[in-house]
Amino acid sequence: MKDAYGREINYLRISITDRCNLRCRYCMPEGISCVPMDEILTFEEIERVCREAVDLGITRFKITGGEPLVRLGCPSLIGMIKKIPGVDQVTMTKNGVELKKYLPELKAAGLDAVNISLDTLNPEKFLTITGYDRLTKVLESLQAAVDAGLRVKTNTVLQRGMNDGEWEKLMLLAKDQHLDVRFIELMPIGYGADGSMVSNPDLIERIRKKYPQVQHDSAFHGNGPAVYCRIPGWQGSIGFISAIHGKFCAQCNRIRMTAVGEIKPCLCYEESFDIRNALRCGTKEDVREVLLRAIRTKPQMHCFEKREAVTEKKLMAKIGG
Ligand code: SAM
Ligand code: SF4
Repeated sequence: MKDAYGREINYLRISITDRCNLRCRYCMPEGISCVPMDEILTFEEIERVCREAVDLGITRFKITGGEPLVRLGCPSLIGMIKKIPGVDQVTMTKNGVELKKYLPELKAAGLDAVNISLDTLNPEKFLTITGYDRLTKVLESLQAAVDAGLRVKTNTVLQRGMNDGEWEKLMLLAKDQHLDVRFIELMPIGYGADGSMVSNPDLIERIRKKYPQVQHDSAFHGNGPAVYCRIPGWQGSIGFISAIHGKFCAQCNRIRMTAVGEIKPCLCYEESFDIRNALRCGTKEDVREVLLRAIRTKPQMHCFEKREAVTEKKLMAKIGG
């Protein structure tokens, strides 16, 4: 269905847990508490939301977290959503630590694609950024996902003085493999507000200097706001999600649901609508009404470029990115 600005809303990002097996400094550093399990939506409740969403024209679902695979039975949820008539795609965003182990189950459940967060290829930096020595597991998962024929994208958040020198090494992952490498500008959400963002226009300039043959890539790469370029002869493309320097809101097609059932019209603002109460105490119509309210009140644009106007106080790990 269309929102008040004529945008077709066909995509729902679902965070299924606020727990994580990493502690990325800009997202969920040490010492953050998690909500009790009885406050988290059950898989059956999530499935009910998806059924109502499909009726409203939302046919693409992204499972995220926290880290979605730390929730027991995650592959079975993928299967439950895939089986809903009218569902077009179920994809995941994840950190890759446990992906290799669950890959066969996820594929069997019908997972369509996976985004893997990868901020560095240096084991010591990985430890510094995430708090854990788990880079090898992430790289093994990345390779396994590509080998299994899944559509794979990597997501990198560059920070000045931390991993910004690694843009080229990370980009080169797309040279010989069928995967897209994407750079996401650090957003002023949660601890992201304290970090040192690398601007994508600056990064693109650096790429142009080193690879003058780089071309705009207009092929369709998925549901997101990324803009892509390609280097002739490379297998994969390079994507840029420029939350601060690229106003992609006119094409925004999404709403979000947190693990406790808050439906968020826009990432940048704190406004949300409680669907858990509708699921636990209301009717099917009440559930649908919450989704409709979120779509109808979706703001025209975010305000990430004006930090003081961002009202969202939750951590990104509680929202799902
Ligand atoms: N744990 C999974 C993962 O890391 O992919 C899924 C959840 S995580 C919140 C989703 C994405 O949000 C990750 O790619 C992460 O790097 C990104 N992210 C977290 N905080 C961010 C921020 N402040 N600005 C931009 N991206 C952020
Ligand atoms: Fe966990 Fe993903 Fe946040 Fe890192 S970015 S702390 S892996 S939720």
